[in-house]
Amino acid sequence: MLGGGLAGITAALRCADAGLDVTLLESKGHLGGLTHSFRRGELDVDNGQHVFLRCCTSYVELLRRLGVLDKVFLQPRLAIQVRSPRLREPVWLRRNGLPAPLHLADSVLKYKPLPVADRLKFASAAFALKGVDRDSAAADAQSFGDWLRRHGQSDAAIGKLWDLVGIATLNAPATGASLALAATVFQVGLLTDAAAADIGWSKVPLRELHGEPAKARLTEAGAQVLLGTKATALTRVEGGWRITAGETEFVADRVVLAVPPEVAERLLPPGSVRLPEGWARRLGSSPIVNAHLVLDRKVLDQPFFAAVDSPLQWVFDRTTQSGVDGGQCLAVSLSAADDLIDVPVREIRERILPELRRVLPAAATAHVRDFFVTRERHATFRPTPGTAALRPQTRTAADGIVLAGAWTATGWPATMEGAVRSGDAAARALLTPGPALDEPTSPEGKDIR
Ligand SMILES: Cc1cc2nc3c(=O)[nH]c(=O)nc-3n(C[C@H](O)[C@H](O)[C@H](O)COP(=O)(O)OP(=O)(O)OC[C@H]3O[C@@H](n4cnc5c(N)ncnc54)[C@H](O)[C@@H]3O)c2cc1C
Repeated sequence: MLGGGLAGITAALRCADAGLDVTLLESKGHLGGLTHSFRRGELDVDNGQHVFLRCCTSYVELLRRLGVLDKVFLQPRLAIQVRSPRLREPVWLRRNGLPAPLHLADSVLKYKPLPVADRLKFASAAFALKGVDRDSAAADAQSFGDWLRRHGQSDAAIGKLWDLVGIATLNAPATGASLALAATVFQVGLLTDAAAADIGWSKVPLRELHGEPAKARLTEAGAQVLLGTKATALTRVEGGWRITAGETEFVADRVVLAVPPEVAERLLPPGSVRLPEGWARRLGSSPIVNAHLVLDRKVLDQPFFAAVDSPLQWVFDRTTQSGVDGGQCLAVSLSAADDLIDVPVREIRERILPELRRVLPAAATAHVRDFFVTRERHATFRPTPGTAALRPQTRTAADGIVLAGAWTATGWPATMEGAVRSGDAAARALLTPGPALDEPTSPEGKDIR
């Protein structure tokens, strides 16, 4: 098993539970991959705020296997406080007791950031989105933003309602997102089951939710976990594959590659996947930036809010998870952060702080004890139109090598749920040997296009 993010952890646990002899190599000093945390003085800091939805059933199943379900909170009923500098009071997007998609109808009808005409047009686009075939290449080739406009949605409706959910789940605004991926998010999360979008989050730092328990459960299950072990080459040998990691070599009859896409493409024997050379670079990545503030007093009385008419996007209370003693710790989560990823901290502070004070008046007089930024340049693959054609299937043409990762062909955007689903699929493929890719090829040489 190469790679100890959520995909690799899931696949490794499934295989170890099935009695396979599992060795997991992870290049970093911890498991958890893109979901990790670190210490900054007395603070526990996550690399970025992570949330999940009730519909993320595979992820929740992983939490159960890790024995950490008591370390997450899941809203009993979806409620999103929305703040705008143009409104004196926040508004709420709450689900009512009606079945989907009517569960949001009254919230949308009362949604003050939008003119009434836009609120009334929301329903017809929502119903049309429910009917989009999210598995079709034609849907994947289209821009979600263009589709929304064709379905009567104004720029205001896209920016203040659709992007409110979409930018955080897709890591792209509607204009830069594939319709198929957006349809997956909205169909599964909002348009089918009323409870599906109830929001959950960790009550502890991410390393206590994923990385540390994963190492413990894998070890208990008999797997060997080798941290700080970076795979550098994968070579065909008699009876399997030789994995080179620095000076050390391992031989395995089967390999799960659960590493980021560019690493996978580098390690895979040529011709292993039916994608054009350079597919990983073409798939690309999209950044997420989090601005963290420690304030001398409590300014937010909700676990989180979303902001419109503002660059803030989503703001979370991180006081408990970070272990702040007195005052409050907030994380401003900024998805699709191309315009911020290379901006110095001082400048980000100059942009974010006044905006926070505009939408959250209680913050106006608070003293900022600490302000820092976490950046993930390659947080997710870039979910642009046409992405589906660049996401490889689990099985490869290289006998015994399977792929896992949020970037594989799960149909989901790059999320924790997608990563876990890919790990489940990889374990299934290893445990139930079947045909590799349906096109004959030699893993050593032939390139399939
Ligand atoms: C800031 C941020 C916020 C996010 N917010 C959310 C959210 O709110 N909700 C949500 O569902 N998702 C969110 N995501 C996305 C989610 O974190 C990822 O989709 C998921 O964690 C990816 O898991 P993975 O196992 O596919 O990949 P990764 O986590 O990238 O795992 C790959 C692993 O392979 C290791 N590796 C790399 N090269 C080698 C090598 N040569 N040898 C051995 N090991 C190697 C890496 O160190 C890494 O541990 C967010 C991501 C970020 C960065």
